[in-house]
Amino acid sequence: GMKHRGIECRPDIETLSPGFVSVYESLLPSDVEKENQNLLLKSLTVIINKEWPNVKLHLYGSCANSFGFSNSDVDICLSIDECESKHDMLLKLADILQSENYQDVEAITNARVPIVKMTDPSTGICCDICINNLLAVANTKLLRDYAKIDNRLHQLAYIVKHWARSREMNNTFEGTLSSYAYVLLCINFLQLRRPAILPCLQEMELTYMLTVEDTDCAYFDQVDELHNFGSLNDESLAELVWGFFHYWAFAHNYTRDVISVRTGCIISKKIKNWTRRIGNDRHLLCIEDPFETSHDLGRHVDRCSIDMLRSEFKRAASVLQYDQIPFVSLFERE
Ligand code: ATP
Ligand code: MG
Repeated sequence: GMKHRGIECRPDIETLSPGFVSVYESLLPSDVEKENQNLLLKSLTVIINKEWPNVKLHLYGSCANSFGFSNSDVDICLSIDECESKHDMLLKLADILQSENYQDVEAITNARVPIVKMTDPSTGICCDICINNLLAVANTKLLRDYAKIDNRLHQLAYIVKHWARSREMNNTFEGTLSSYAYVLLCINFLQLRRPAILPCLQEMELTYMLTVEDTDCAYFDQVDELHNFGSLNDESLAELVWGFFHYWAFAHNYTRDVISVRTGCIISKKIKNWTRRIGNDRHLLCIEDPFETSHDLGRHVDRCSIDMLRSEFKRAASVLQYDQIPFVSLFERE
């Protein structure tokens, strides 16, 4: 059975998996919803190509990385070669969308990633549109490809994302972590199980390659060949949820370690030069972006939010160890 720092996993852990699987299934978006998202993408393609014939539309974020809840926003990225200013293009796009009767259209041009927001009145789907954010398109594909290898990633990440959202630990403005960061934590956790449940795609033959500005995004994407990869490991969903939270509550070395999906390992802050605060990047909980490797996805975590996160990880670990119906209490707000 699983162990962390001498804590032996509860003996009835196996009996808890069906409960977690039901929670997971209740979070999946319906086929109707997926279909509505695709129809919206098609209508927008027509409207946008009327004004900009060479622009391509890419879905990214949780509606395309396969880790989306039902009712999540649709993230769309426009790719364009010409160098019309993003600012002007977004303002023009906002006008066009308004005249096409989309609702709550708003251009937010001063953000780190400038976007136009809108709502589709017929389905209520909210949509964010950005320009040339191709790194996000590439990391979306990476997450989707990892999810195809072993369904336990999908299940674990939905449980972790749902926990983070329910316990208000999913907000970079408050110093906690993005959904994207939580999925990376789950991937790395499964890369490190023994036997491993996930491989390290970036250390295999590079069958997919995209260069965005100076960043190479390359990895093995023929994942259909890997559908048996995790079969030597028979850990159940409940064991993995238990192990994930015990790792973050008791085993992670916050002063030394960096989570690295790129290498499939845990690497040291020293080799990344992330041992102290640099500007606003505090490097208290370090997660290396798989492609933009100088980018710490935990950089928003500060002295206050790291205490919150660690006490939430401990609460979760304790619920999972002692609670009669942990698949309910894990997500409850007191
Ligand atoms: P959800 O909307 O369900 O919370 P999401 O995956 O859509 O999850 P967002 O925070 O909306 O999460 O991010 C959308 C996408 O933008 C991510 O899937 C990822 O591709 C990209 N992204 C987000 N944050 C970063 C980041 N710090 N660095 C690089 N890419 C990022
Ligand atoms: Mg999103």
